[in-house]
Amino acid sequence: EALKEKIKKMGDVVFQMDLETALRYSLKHEVAGVKEITGDKLEALKTYLNVLAKYFPFGKYGQQFLRQLRDFVASRTTLDGNEIAKLLESAEKEESQVFSTPQNWLACKGSSTAFRGYPCGLWKMFHYLSVNAADSSMGLKGASPMVVLGAMHGYIKNFFGCADCSRHFQEMAKRQGIFEVTSWDDSILWLWMAHNEVNKRLSGDETEDPEFPKQQFPTQEKCPRCHNKDDSWNIPEVLHYLKHVYSSINIRYIGSD
Ligand code: FAD
Repeated sequence: EALKEKIKKMGDVVFQMDLETALRYSLKHEVAGVKEITGDKLEALKTYLNVLAKYFPFGKYGQQFLRQLRDFVASRTTLDGNEIAKLLESAEKEESQVFSTPQNWLACKGSSTAFRGYPCGLWKMFHYLSVNAADSSMGLKGASPMVVLGAMHGYIKNFFGCADCSRHFQEMAKRQGIFEVTSWDDSILWLWMAHNEVNKRLSGDETEDPEFPKQQFPTQEKCPRCHNKDDSWNIPEVLHYLKHVYSSINIRYIGSD
């Protein structure tokens, strides 16, 4: 209870534990669950692993694992999800030192197991990746500002277990021009805008955790400067806030022991 209150008070912080738990869940329960991964699905997986290997906040052994996974899949024309499960299984052995936290939710913990958890962690992971990709690739020749959005779109389309969510996301992506984004900052903002659209749609929905009502992010309380007097967004301030909250130097580790 005390930890729960402490985390709630901390506000919009990102915990390593939520990111690692989302990554494990994604590989173990979604990717590994597909019997035959070929064609577009395989291409989407390659793109996803490429982004993870480049930008997921891991230590030395975690990075090695993601690179190994990426290279293993890159050379294939067909794959059985079980092969991913096996690689993950050995990575999860403590002595491999790939993961640095227990497999639990922290800031993404719901008031009951019916709420939050994986979808919350997945959003946070993609927001983190969009900010980190911008941080590390801005100015790099050949790096495309579309990498993270493209990887997310492919992942949600081909692997995300919630079929309705996937359909909604693809429809929104088309309507909101996901593939027309051309700058790093715009890719961070596109994801923020998209997530707020989902928050708006789900506000008051039965899937909403009563202890965590869906709000437009960031709230007036957390970021007064993000809100103009006329109720519109102050976009440069929003961008600044997102880059702060989802920056690699602001990832927290408490609760990981
Ligand atoms: P989440 O919405 O999961 O947000 C997690 C955290 O992200 C928040 O606690 C906050 O810290 C931060 N955050 C919130 N908004 C923003 C923002 N705009 N920008 C940056 N950070 C933000 N559920 C459905 O019932 N129907 C759907 O169609 C649906 N579509 C989905 C599509 C995708 C791609 C994903 C990943 C999830 C989808 N979900 C859908 C699940 C839903 O969006 C929530 O993830 C889930 O209800 C858990 O909500 P939550 O309260 O943990 O907050």
